[in-house]
Amino acid sequence: MNRPEVPEPGGEEREEIELEPPDGLREVAGRLESSGYEAWAVGGAVRDALMGDERADWDLATDARPDDVQRIFPRTAPIGVEHGTVGVIRDDEMYEVTTFRRDVESDGRHAVVEFAARIDADLSRRDFTINAMAWRPATKELRDPFDGRLDLEQRILRAVGEPAERFREDHLRVLRGLRFAGRYDMRIDDETREALGAAARLTEGLSAERVREELMKVLGDRTPSTALRLYAEFGVLRVWYPELAETYGGHPRREQYFRAVDEISRERKIVRLARWMVPLGERWDTRSDDAKSLLDRLKFSNDDSQRVLHLLENYRPLVGPMDSSAQIREWLARVGTDSMRDVFRLHLAGARSVGAEEKKRYLKATWRRVHEEAQEDPPLTASDLAVSGEDILELGVEEGPLVGVLLKELLSRVVEDPRLNEREELMSLARRLVEEEQLDEFESWGTEGDAGDGEGTAPPPGPGLGGPPRGGEPPEPAPGFGGSDDGTDGGSASDA
Ligand code: ATP
Ligand code: MG
Repeated sequence: MNRPEVPEPGGEEREEIELEPPDGLREVAGRLESSGYEAWAVGGAVRDALMGDERADWDLATDARPDDVQRIFPRTAPIGVEHGTVGVIRDDEMYEVTTFRRDVESDGRHAVVEFAARIDADLSRRDFTINAMAWRPATKELRDPFDGRLDLEQRILRAVGEPAERFREDHLRVLRGLRFAGRYDMRIDDETREALGAAARLTEGLSAERVREELMKVLGDRTPSTALRLYAEFGVLRVWYPELAETYGGHPRREQYFRAVDEISRERKIVRLARWMVPLGERWDTRSDDAKSLLDRLKFSNDDSQRVLHLLENYRPLVGPMDSSAQIREWLARVGTDSMRDVFRLHLAGARSVGAEEKKRYLKATWRRVHEEAQEDPPLTASDLAVSGEDILELGVEEGPLVGVLLKELLSRVVEDPRLNEREELMSLARRLVEEEQLDEFESWGTEGDAGDGEGTAPPPGPGLGGPPRGGEPPEPAPGFGGSDDGTDGGSASDA
């Protein structure tokens, strides 16, 4: 492998600086040093410390072998001993201590490494100059063979050594590069830029898990939109997120959509993900298919996928401040009190991204109403009903889907008028529905396998539940609210 040669710096070239690592790291490093080994803080921690950013995870690199490390420290965890990494445990913290390594070969997805004797070899195998610095607490020496500090100051992303080769060795570096360039708002050095663009389609061969992890790291950054724009610019979207590539490509509100992602707290990565995917909803015909195919491709957990899909499905229609309590309860029953805040977060982020004051006021007024209704703790789910499935069976209804249909109907009445939620009241209502055959029997057809008319279509949602609020059409957005996120274009047909 063709690696840049790094001369050991002579006395006068040695650079000493003071960083402020956590006490625990100093102790672990001190212990290694007093046992006769070198201990260097490496990677992201050094980079972030130079940027003045605090961070929790400081990693160490050392010439001690894993079994040495395990011998020196009383409490360790074998995190990846075969790759040279041992976790050193102190109280409730753990520091990763990794033996210096060099790459022997790699195929873009896996690398074969061997242990190395010097920190410089270890730094040469790292991806970007800003990540290829090391700092030795014992001597305060900063080892920066590729001028990463200068690149950091000048906000330039530059691969270590020969860029094309670095991306060929490990395709994940494409995504990492875009993430760092986005996070620090860096210009990408020309040669690195060219190599990055050429390697973008190689990300196709990465595993979904790694791509998803990278995305989640992006979504956890302060302003994810910067990296997400780079994903689009460098063609990564087309490879892994084609639905979004198509939707964002040339979209008139594209900038606003990107910015809206930043407007959601970085602690809420899944809501940010949903916000990024909101424009898929503009194409009503394909919305949930597209969203689902994307989430499946990235192998999101069932929980996360369901959450995102639920938010997208309930992004619109939103209730309004002039809606009746019953309409708001119906909305709450559909969206769920667990998700109501997230739906508002999505809308508020849209309004903030364009500084739409009027829409913010509208949302505030709407939220007050929703909050007020939710505070009343009204019955909103079948489990809140004063009757159960067993009660329904007592009426002589056969066990089967009809029980569910009946409960659903009762719930829809109770959501409309919570005062009905008394056992006697509901039992007589249920009895009437059964006797007078007022039940929408077809509701049960869709749940009986492929019975019915053979067209396999799902049944329409029950009255008042699962569909638009009672009274027919979904509420028109209030004037000035529009269907769009900026409230300026009066809402396009696709938004309504
Ligand atoms: P983050 O802030 O995301 O944690 P980081 O730089 O700490 O950023 P890690 O993935 O934790 O990123 O990796 C730690 C260090 O290991 C990096 O700074 C870099 O030096 C090196 N590294 C990680 N992944 C790669 C890679 N794919 N190729 C080369 N070097 C890598
Ligand atoms: Mg890290």
